[in-house]
Amino acid sequence: MSNSDYKKPLPALEGLTQEFYGFCREGELRFQRCASCQAWRHVPREMCAQCGSMDWSWEASSGRGKLFTWTVAARPLHAAFADDAPYAPAVVELDEGVRLVTEIVNCKPVDLEIDAPVEVIFDAVTPEITLPKFRRTGL
Ligand SMILES: [Zn+2]
Repeated sequence: MSNSDYKKPLPALEGLTQEFYGFCREGELRFQRCASCQAWRHVPREMCAQCGSMDWSWEASSGRGKLFTWTVAARPLHAAFADDAPYAPAVVELDEGVRLVTEIVNCKPVDLEIDAPVEVIFDAVTPEITLPKFRRTGL
């Protein structure tokens, strides 16, 4: 798929965000982890919100978690989502404790359940951008 085929908004590849999506492009879900207090964090940022440390590293996530919450968009707010409606922007909580806004790919909004187990999949939507999405497991 070329860039021109994909019409939905994409993340701006800059700074730490570019590094995060670089891992996704390689099929790895990684989050920052504080070297001082070991807290995981997302979205990418320089300083730990728990202890203020600037020391951290990218650590591999298990890619497993649970559905924390979602909302159902019956009327899309962006034209590129028109064919998807109704769709459910979701928040997944990974086993590491970080939360990520994403999409559940194998489940209609009506079939979503709080705490449903999910695991990451990678969707290469353009040559540059691979989005981490999730599939519900145990169905
Ligand atoms: Zn910390």
